[in-house]
Formats: sequence, C-alpha cells, structure tokens
Amino acid sequence: MFSFKKRWLFLTVLILIVVTGFIMPEPRFIPVKGATAADWHKDTFWYEPWGSSGVHKGIDIFGNTGTEVLAPTNILILYQGELKKGGKVILGLGPKWRLHYLAHLDSIAENLSTSVSAGSVIATLGATGNAKGKPPHLHYSIISLIPYPHLMDSSTQGMKKAFYLNPIEYLEIAMKK
Ligand SMILES: [Zn+2]
Repeated sequence: MFSFKKRWLFLTVLILIVVTGFIMPEPRFIPVKGATAADWHKDTFWYEPWGSSGVHKGIDIFGNTGTEVLAPTNILILYQGELKKGGKVILGLGPKWRLHYLAHLDSIAENLSTSVSAGSVIATLGATGNAKGKPPHLHYSIISLIPYPHLMDSSTQGMKKAFYLNPIEYLEIAMKK
C-alpha cells in the first residue's frame, strides 16, 4: 500500500514538472541579430539529400561572420563546446521541453551563464565544423523531447518530424511580434 502511494506521488510530481514546462512562457527571437526571412531559404527544413544526416533537420540562417547570435528563447544551457560536424555549438533547453541547437558558431560568449534569457547575446555567427569553407551561417534546430505524432509524414525520416520541429514555423510567430 505504501509503495502504491509513493508511486502516485512520483507520478503526480512528474506530471506537474511536465505541465510546468508547457505553461512557461516562450518568448521567441530570431537567433541572428537583424536577420529576416530573406536570410534563410523557405525550403531549407527537411531538404534532401543532406550529407550523412540524410535530411536537413533544421534551418541555416546566413549572415556575416561575427554577427551576434541571440538566445531564441529563455534557455538553460546544457552543452557548449566543439563537435566534429557542428563546430562550435550551444545546446539549450527551453520552455515546452524543446531543445534549441545552434551550430557553426564563430565564438561562444565568455562566462555564458547556465540560464540565459530570450534575446540575449550568446555567441557569434561563423562557419565552424562542416560549414568550413561554406558561406557563414547559423544552423538552428529545435528538438522536442515530447513527441508530436501528428507531425510525422511519409517523407524521408518523416517519423523524426515528431521530434524535430520546423524552425521556420517557430520563427514566423517571432516575426509577427
Ligand atoms: Zn544546417
């Protein structure tokens, strides 16, 4: 009987935590300072073929090296560092249990705090990782930890659309402000 109660307590707390993530406000910013829809291609999301990834699970926002990269929303920094493909990257957890992945950065802000508010400068745009030698751009992906099965379709790796959200749709709301 005791363990039954404990299990319910655990479940209740878990549900509360998940719900809290969903009711948190999600202020949205285009993560490159001064960028507009003219700085990315409208069909860039899920474009194929796309090297070893198969399809492009994010968008590329083009700009000059050194342009300020802004936090796309309030994020908790989970990882900052260098990866082979992504180059210098930042991975943050935002509201609604969404991960925000920013890659090919030229530099990451020094003394970046763990909790970053939407729109603050976190890095600069560049061409690191497998973007080397290509026009500098920010690769931006949004990955939901909670699946959205209705977004799956029959495209290549279309099942993964339950997790990879289209940043263009996300940013359209940011632009309407
Ligand atoms: Zn990309």
